[in-house]
Amino acid sequence: MEKREQLYTGKAKTVYATDEPDHLILHFRNDTSAFDGEKVAQLDRKGRVNNRFNAFIMERLAEAGIPTHFERLLGDEEALVKRLEMLPVECVVRNYAAGSLCRRLGVEEGLALEPPVFEFFLKNDALHDPMINESHIRTFRWATDDEVVEMKDLSLRINGILTRLFADAGLLLVDFKLEFGRFHGRLLLGDEFSPDGCRLWDAETRTRLDKDRFRQGLGGVVEAYEEVARRLGIPLD
Ligand code: ADP
Ligand code: UDP
Repeated sequence: MEKREQLYTGKAKTVYATDEPDHLILHFRNDTSAFDGEKVAQLDRKGRVNNRFNAFIMERLAEAGIPTHFERLLGDEEALVKRLEMLPVECVVRNYAAGSLCRRLGVEEGLALEPPVFEFFLKNDALHDPMINESHIRTFRWATDDEVVEMKDLSLRINGILTRLFADAGLLLVDFKLEFGRFHGRLLLGDEFSPDGCRLWDAETRTRLDKDRFRQGLGGVVEAYEEVARRLGIPLD
């Protein structure tokens, strides 16, 4: 397998083609952004931590029967994945109220959500990723009805698996975002799962150990990601 041309430069990752049409390389950069790219910074070691973190989570999910794009780690900041036709929607699952849910509905941060809330957002930075529903997805053909059902089902199954995994490490999985894509007619989990795209709080103190540290200017961002990795037993060297 050989690395070929750069296909896409996102806010946090660069995507490369390979000599195999069904495979891509994801390069996790140190770039960090928030508020639709308004706040940006370079955070030492973040690419490496997120690459390892994502590999660990994708492997745990695959073991639990979730179909994912992840193939293998290629180095400190890169991973080999299956090339997907990404669906332009983001799936968010919430176990505790935080972020945009609090702003939208006026609920108190930290409120336990039972059952968990599931939401779709349109992946479109220029429009600030607006919330959408199944009717929009059907009308605008962003996914088929079967894919909508499958994205919800997989997202909630992933929530069950990861809530337990993080609980064993003394962490609350507050909320997270997933992206899915098509691979030869099958729907697979794509993109990444890392503290950049989820909220994780210490179960006892509710200390934020995720990207909210960057959004809120709390400092110690990568140190918090490393703390989570250490608790999960993810090797970082
Ligand atoms: P953004 O596009 O939001 O700035 P990133 O910097 O993380 O995000 O860029 C990674 C891009 O690669 C995202 O647009 C994501 O949808 C896409 N992507 C992730 N996994 C795959 C995959 N397996 N196949 C094709 N595209 C993917
Ligand atoms: N999220 C993400 N990418 C996005 C939007 C949200 O990874 O473009 C994640 C975010 O980190 C959080 C969850 O999805 O874990 C819910 O985010 P929310 O809707 O509360 O938006 P926020 O207030 O974080 O912008």
